[in-house]
Amino acid sequence: MTEIALVTGGTRGIGAAIAVALKAQGWEVASIYHGNDKAAEQFSRETGISVFRWDVADEGACREGVAAVEAQLGPISVLVNNAGITRDGMFHRMSWTQWREVLATNLDSMFAMTRAVIEGMRERGFGRIINISSINGQKGQVGQVNYSAAKAGVIGFTKALAQENAARGITVNAVCPGYVDTEMVAAVREEVRAAIIAGIPVGRLGAPQEVADAVSYLASPRAGFCTGSVLTLNGGQYIAN
Ligand code: NDP
Repeated sequence: MTEIALVTGGTRGIGAAIAVALKAQGWEVASIYHGNDKAAEQFSRETGISVFRWDVADEGACREGVAAVEAQLGPISVLVNNAGITRDGMFHRMSWTQWREVLATNLDSMFAMTRAVIEGMRERGFGRIINISSINGQKGQVGQVNYSAAKAGVIGFTKALAQENAARGITVNAVCPGYVDTEMVAAVREEVRAAIIAGIPVGRLGAPQEVADAVSYLASPRAGFCTGSVLTLNGGQYIAN
């Protein structure tokens, strides 16, 4: 029976690097995306990784999507909750829509995706759940009250779920990247990017591959003693405890 690793937002940026790294580790990988068919088709063509399209903020779509992946490929043993968006703005000007979209995609998705796989993992006595949070969920960020709240929520979700499932062979960990060189960061204005890099002690943005390497470790059987942890990968920008 082939065991599957599912990566949400696994067709671009950090998620694409994670999907490729997990495939290299021997997993059959399913990458989920939302709307960018062109990027997803190109990714699938270049990597041979299966891609599926649904909205991770939609609970019903996640349930149906997971069932379709499992019927087509096999049981999901590794879930990487990576899909995320930003809708930045100062809180005193932030709309309810900006708040809801960010909470839905970054945090509601944790419930919807994880709830869809957890019973199967518990029955089989093995699972690896890796949730991508952010440095800004650890320290808070001006202009990102919505995103900081969602990503801090990811950390609480991780710690509680880890305790509930530790005795069932399932580990649950969070990874908090600092600023990584993806389209999300490329969208930031040039002068803001320069200021961000100036604030990173190692003097550069992170590479998607560096996050993927950490996720590969957490997904591996040798990480069985590591659960409920929050792994900080930010070039020394913020030292959280
Ligand atoms: P990108 O914007 O480069 O890629 C986002 C991916 O998520 C795409 O595959 C996109 O699909 C998918 N996606 C977005 N919304 C949904 C949705 N509702 N349903 C399904 N898939 C969706 O993001 P990054 O690689 O930069 O970020 C990945 C994760 O890392 C996010 O959680 C982000 O918050 C976090 N992070 C990023 C940092 C950075 O510096 N880049 C720093 C810290 C954390 P499609 O292509 O169809 O749009």
